[in-house]
Amino acid sequence: MAGEAVAVTREGEGEAIQLAGGETLRADAVILSIGNLPPIVPAVIPADLPEGVFVADPWAGDIAAGLSAGDRVLLIGTGLTAIDAALTLEASGFEGRIIAISRRGMVPRPHDRSLLEVPNLPERPSGGMAEMTRMVRSNAERIGWQAAVDQLRPHTQALWASAPAGRRKRFLRHLRPYWDVHRHRIAPEIGERIEAMQRQGRLSFEAGKLVSVEPSGAAARVTWRRRGADGTEELTVTRIVNCTGPRGDVTRSGEPLLEQLAAAGRVRPDPCRIGIDVDENCRVIAGDGTPSPSLYAIGPMTRGALWEVVAVPDIRVQTDKLARQIPGTA
Ligand SMILES: Cc1cc2nc3c(=O)[nH]c(=O)nc-3n(C[C@H](O)[C@H](O)[C@H](O)COP(=O)(O)OP(=O)(O)OC[C@H]3O[C@@H](n4cnc5c(N)ncnc54)[C@H](O)[C@@H]3O)c2cc1C
Repeated sequence: MAGEAVAVTREGEGEAIQLAGGETLRADAVILSIGNLPPIVPAVIPADLPEGVFVADPWAGDIAAGLSAGDRVLLIGTGLTAIDAALTLEASGFEGRIIAISRRGMVPRPHDRSLLEVPNLPERPSGGMAEMTRMVRSNAERIGWQAAVDQLRPHTQALWASAPAGRRKRFLRHLRPYWDVHRHRIAPEIGERIEAMQRQGRLSFEAGKLVSVEPSGAAARVTWRRRGADGTEELTVTRIVNCTGPRGDVTRSGEPLLEQLAAAGRVRPDPCRIGIDVDENCRVIAGDGTPSPSLYAIGPMTRGALWEVVAVPDIRVQTDKLARQIPGTA
């Protein structure tokens, strides 16, 4: 059925789900499988930009609408969303320049089609972040970096789950950008299209920080500082697309359902504030630390517990495990 759930409240032994249209459904258990949240609007974006200049959610509409060949587009972010936005603009026939900026300017690497077999790691790696990084580097010298990253895959969730919160936070702060571009790669054909756009001078990836954005006629004037530089540079762009990736902080979700659940103390952010706090059985942990007997969550919003739970194969495994645990669903 179609409908937006705007509230879920515990009722007796089960749950009552209130829909935006006013209807109420009842269930023994509720599984939040709400996918990713839209990205956070960067603080540098002012509220008074001319209409249509800033696209807050690249998935919500047509990012190429109204652009012409002489226009310039700024993508905030250089990850998979920026790659997708660049290809969307190209596919729409946009012929102007695209500039993608992120702090490090790191871009997802292409897959290596010649990589046929990834040697198994005999056992789950152990040690702190520095030791693990050394291990991956040394394995990369023997078997190539793609295989050295891919052979961690069967162990990633367990490594994350067993890491103390402090180590997880340090990983997010220091290693995540490297992890993201090496682990979440793009198809070789996509890599070739992106390289071709770069060669033609239609797309560039820059490392730097946005300093200010202000209205300039029907466009926006962007001041940014290149990484490592003292001075700033200016750009005038017709469109700015927010490619900073999904938000994870459930206390700032802007989604009615999550806001209701957070206000009622039924969900809380995980220690890294990248999703909903759940236990190892996908039970949502309430504000007081108690796992719910009837409210569960799966998918990207549980990345705080498992880290690698964004790709469909990982979500499939999580779903299967949860289905076996809820009576009558397996
Ligand atoms: C551009 C892009 C490319 C990707 N490429 C790949 C890929 O190649 N391989 C891969 O494995 N993964 C890929 N992913 C990731 C993958 O698509 C997602 O992680 C996955 O779809 C998540 O599945 P899900 O069922 O948890 O959520 P979703 O597929 O996002 O579904 C969530 C559903 O919940 C609904 N919903 C949310 N809130 C409410 C509410 N309050 N009431 C009612 N309904 C609600 C939404 O409308 C939606 O239908 C990609 C993601 C993106 C954005």
